[in-house]
This record gives sequence, structure tokens and C-alpha cells, in this order.
Amino acid sequence: MERKKIAIVGGGITGLSAAYYLQKQIKASQLAVEVQLVEASDRLGGRIHTIKKDGFTIERGPDSLLARKPEAMGLAKELGLEEEIVYNGTGQSYILVKNKLHKMPKGAFMGVPKELKPLLASNVFSLKGKLRALWDLVLPKSKEIDDQSVGTLMRHRFGNELVDYQIDPLLSGIHSGDIDQMSLQATYPMFHRLEQEHGSLIKGLQKTMSKPTKKAKEKKTQGMFFSFENGLETLIERLEEKLADGTVRMNTAVDHIEKKEHGYHLLLSNGEVYRADAVIMTAPHNKVPKMLSQYDFLKKLYDIPATSTANVVLGFDQSAIKKDIDGTGFLVSRSEKYRITACTWTHRKWPNTTPEGKALFRLYVGKPDDQDIVNLSDEEITDIVLRDMNKTMKIKAKPEFSIITRFKEARPQYHVGHLERVAEIRANAARELPGLFLTGSSYDGVGIPDCIGHGRNSAEEVLAFLNK
Ligand code: FAD
Repeated sequence: MERKKIAIVGGGITGLSAAYYLQKQIKASQLAVEVQLVEASDRLGGRIHTIKKDGFTIERGPDSLLARKPEAMGLAKELGLEEEIVYNGTGQSYILVKNKLHKMPKGAFMGVPKELKPLLASNVFSLKGKLRALWDLVLPKSKEIDDQSVGTLMRHRFGNELVDYQIDPLLSGIHSGDIDQMSLQATYPMFHRLEQEHGSLIKGLQKTMSKPTKKAKEKKTQGMFFSFENGLETLIERLEEKLADGTVRMNTAVDHIEKKEHGYHLLLSNGEVYRADAVIMTAPHNKVPKMLSQYDFLKKLYDIPATSTANVVLGFDQSAIKKDIDGTGFLVSRSEKYRITACTWTHRKWPNTTPEGKALFRLYVGKPDDQDIVNLSDEEITDIVLRDMNKTMKIKAKPEFSIITRFKEARPQYHVGHLERVAEIRANAARELPGLFLTGSSYDGVGIPDCIGHGRNSAEEVLAFLNK
């Protein structure tokens, strides 16, 4: 029997997970199927990128995996990485409001209050702001609508103060986006359900999220996030090791894809044509229309916006930090005259990353209304970041190094209507391009655990397609 061929476009976590789960299934069921992963750059991992420098472990992209999502932890254990897992240090985190660092109120989930005491005791909010937040307990539930922005729901239930000072910095920060444009259904559908089922988000959280048991409290001191002793790229390296020889081609871009009577021809940047029976497309959505330029319906992918951010890693000698803060980091409220959006004390949050006597900080720039900052030079960005840092800490010496990583139009935004937009594009793809699957962080979830799930699901879908 002739072997079927599956091409995977892109060697980030989604593509590598797809290749891994495909080969696992191929082996288990002894299928006559070959997998070829094609990666444009000279390395695997995509946005996941760890480097080592002078004893520091530095993440140029993402730095952590959410432990409560099972996909990443499951895969890490399956790959034998359990011994290398490290959890984040759980110090105090802060929020920068009115030019001052305030302790992040406890008893909240994704910035949404669950417990009233910490909200009422917090000095971040005015009395009026606190009372307005409590309206959530008495306001009737909103009318069922298809979608709305996360900001619309939160502002309606809690008022602007709680949103601007607590919910927005966290949620907009996670997505490098704008809470007032972010689709509730595509990002946090649970808040829609809580409002509909319990009439109040506070009551809904209280009813559905049980009080932590003693054991859970102990676990909490372990941290909600994990990485690996040698950084996140450990996961990428181990996945690569597990793939059959010859699975991966690097330094090879897919330039164009033609649908043929049977399957697809992928025109590669080295001039070769790879013939595949099915394609898993994990390259970012805004790269797809060019590869399949003959299909106008794919131009709708450009309607999914992508923001730009840069991440700045600064290494210091500990003695340079004259006024330090007892904590792991802070988020900046959008109304502040700061250009950084967040700052992590990486040496505290991830002590394994930093040699004794040194300090490592990680900062983000690139608010939705400050996108051009990523086009400044390294020196200019470093100066801006240091100026902002010095407003809260006293730093007496220049950093020993500054490493800047730009992500230009690389953070997909799930704006209101995202699910419908994606469903329409996928329905057209299923009709016009059967056997070509669009997956990855642009569509159904941006977190790395989500992407592992996307890879695993697309592996199942493509095998079901070939089996038809
Ligand atoms: P990518 O990693 O973008 O991989 C796509 C690959 O496709 C790339 O390697 C690219 O070179 C390749 N490619 C593109 N075009 C072609 C072509 N024509 N031919 C062949 N190959 C091509 N998530 C978390 O869970 N935790 C975090 O802490 C976190 N922090 C983040 C911080 C930053 C700064 C960013 C940008 C993201 C962060 N995320 C985080 C999100 C997460 O990192 C991404 O959603 C995820 O890594 C995306 O993986 P992917 O495989 O879908 O895409």
C-alpha cells in the first residue's frame, strides 16, 4: 500500500505537538503514513525561545505554562520531563495605579473578585469605586447576546475603576490586547456563563470555585505556573528528540500551496515540491493568505488583527538595585504615563534562572496605543524601560546586558465576533481545501497548553480525514 503523506507547516509548539501525536498514533496503529514538518527559520519552537548567557537562563518569548491546564503538564510527564519541572515563586505581585505600587488584592480570579474582604480593604480603589463594584451582586443578568467585549461585560457589572485598575491590566496584559475589543466568547466564555447562571460574577465564582482545602493551599505555595530547570525550550528539544529521523526540515519556507486532484503540492523555498495528501497549517494566520493566494476567502484572515510587543530582559548585579521591592512583579494600569505594561522580577519568580548575587528583570512594551515603540532601536527601548523602572526602584548602575525581542504583528487578537469569523473561514476551507487544517494560536486559544491541544486535535482530524 502506498504511504500517505502529511505536511505540517511551521515548527512552533503547535506544529511539533501535531507531529508528535501523529507519530504516536501512526506507531500504535501501524499506519502507512509519513509526516513531514517544514519550518521556515533555522530553529524550532517559534515563539518559545530560551537562551543561556553568563549563567542566566533567559526566555525571549513566553516564560511559563499554566499548571491547571492539563495539556502541557500531561505532555511534559509523557516526555519524561517531570524531574525538570520548576514552579514559579509565589511572592506578592503589585499593580501600578496613580504612580504607586499597590498590592494586588487577593481573592480574585483573573482579576475578577471572588472574595469581598480584600476588595473592600484594598487601597487601590476609591470608596465610590468599591461600591460600584458591588453592584455586581444586585444587577440583573444581561440579555443573552451572541458576543460582546470582555470590557463591556466587566464595566457593566463592576464599573470602570475595578476594570481599569485590576481586570484590564491583567487580561489585556496576558493577550497584549485591549479588553474593550476582546471577544468574551473567544477568550473568557466562563464569565458569560457565570453571569447567565448566577446573575452575578462574584456569586458565580463563589459557588463554582470551591474554597481551597488545606492541601490545595499548600499546593498554592508551589505556584500556578511551571517551566523547566533549563527553560521552556526544554519541551521543544524533547519533542524534537522524539520525532522520527527526517521528520523536520528547517530553513525551508512553504512559499505556495496548490490543491491538486489528489492532495496538495507545497512549493518550498529551496525550489522543491513536496506532495502531501493532507496539510496541517500552523504558521500564523497572517502568513496563510500568501501561501494560498488563489483563495480569496482566506483574505478574511487579515481581519484577525495581531498586535506588536517587545520584551526586554535586563541583567544586573544585585548591588545595582538600591531600592528593591519585596515581590515578583507588577502590572501597569493603562491610564498611567508609563510605556512598560508589566515588569517581572524574574530572579524572584524563577530563581533557577539567575546566578547568586545577580538580578534579572523582564519587561514588556507595546500597549495597543503605543505600537510603534517596537520599531525603536535597542538603545532607545532600553532607555525608556530603565526610565520607567527607576520610577519605582532605585537602580544605580547600567544593566550588564539588555536583550530585546520584538514580536511584530505576532500576537493574534480575538476581537468580538472572532468565533464566527473563524467558523466561516474554516467552513470555506473544508469545502474548497478538504484535508487542509488551519490550526495554532490564531484561532482557538493562545496559551501554550492550548496550542499543544490544537496540535493533538489536528493530528486526530487529519488521520480521520485520511481514513475516510
Ligand atoms: P509559532 O510559535 O508562531 O510557530 C509558527 C511557526 O511557523 C514559526 O516557527 C514560523 O517560523 C513558522 N512559519 C511561518 N511561516 C512559515 C512558512 N511559510 N513555512 C514554514 N514555516 C513557517 N503562552 C503561554 O502559555 N505562556 C506564556 O508565558 C506566554 N507568553 C508569551 C509571550 C510572548 C511575548 C508571546 C509572543 C506569546 C506568549 N504566549 C504565552 C503565547 C504562546 O507563546 C504562543 O501562542 C505559542 O507559542 C504559539 O505557538 P504556534 O506553534 O501556534 O506558533
